[in-house]
Amino acid sequence: MAEALLQLTPQGLYCPPGDFFVDPWQPVHRAVITHAHSDHARPGMQAYLTAREGEAVLRARLGSAAAIQSLAYAEPLRLNGVELSLHPAGHILGAAQVRIAYRGEVWCVSGDYKTEADPTCTPFEPVRCHTFVTEATFGLPIYRWRPQAELFAAIHAWWRVNQDAGRASLLFCYALGKAQRLLTGLDPAIGPIFCHGAVERFNAVYRAAGARMPPTTYTGAATGDVDWSRALILAPPSAQASAWTRRFGEVSTAFASGWMCIRGTRRRRAVDRGFALSDHADWPGLLAAIAATGAERVWVTHGYSAVLARWLAEQGLEASAVATCFEGEQGAAAGEDEVSMAGS
Ligand SMILES: [Zn+2]
Ligand SMILES: [Zn+2]
Repeated sequence: MAEALLQLTPQGLYCPPGDFFVDPWQPVHRAVITHAHSDHARPGMQAYLTAREGEAVLRARLGSAAAIQSLAYAEPLRLNGVELSLHPAGHILGAAQVRIAYRGEVWCVSGDYKTEADPTCTPFEPVRCHTFVTEATFGLPIYRWRPQAELFAAIHAWWRVNQDAGRASLLFCYALGKAQRLLTGLDPAIGPIFCHGAVERFNAVYRAAGARMPPTTYTGAATGDVDWSRALILAPPSAQASAWTRRFGEVSTAFASGWMCIRGTRRRRAVDRGFALSDHADWPGLLAAIAATGAERVWVTHGYSAVLARWLAEQGLEASAVATCFEGEQGAAAGEDEVSMAGS
């Protein structure tokens, strides 16, 4: 077999012939970033390369001093004889898979991805490759998403019931990606929509990129006469235990995350309702995406990697679980991505 185009190092996934890292977790000279969630896009890299669609959101995350270069989707870049290109992952705005080709050998690193429709980002595109490095956040057969229309109907019904009962609707969700996807599906005719500052900040980046979302108001700019019982408020999970929630009076709480499809998670999260809307592929989505690559070798990272690797091996693929730091505590602390729920 040809030499491995990627290897796991203490800094992260490294491509020796191209001399670059993909989503490294320690400072390196050149980092290719799949997307701007904090467990993938860490500060301190000498140079960043990301998809153009995600440049503004990565800039918002890293600050004005970061050296960020961007590529259009599918635009090739040569690095020491390696051809690198970025392809849509459908996860959040600008999320990319990294295609690496060298001497006839093609590898692809998925980053986080989903195959479901999402109006806030370019849809997932399968990349043909010999070796596919896939995430497996929801890599168990029990994870199967309900149709989105059903989930949004349930959110709207919950909001209306709360209005009738005179309590505010407080919906927790990841501030980057999930919140904006929720907004594009929410019906502003039901009532006013407010957002926590952490959410509103990324709304502005998404709107500048052309996302069509209903009007929202930053909670900090709300006037004293707001009737919160009419309102739906989007906030990151980290706001749940804070004094911030007290201003709304009586509230019903909910959490929008793929983890909500498991009985018991809602209780552990101490919310009244759970809506299983995810920005990751479910089990059928993972299997379909992996099959579409045509890869004979699969490295599985992120989440239920051992289970998915075993299943793939039983189908005759050369599959192994690869330990990465993506399931780290940083994401959990920032309330960033669904990986933060793992094990909770
Ligand atoms: Zn992510
Ligand atoms: Zn992730």
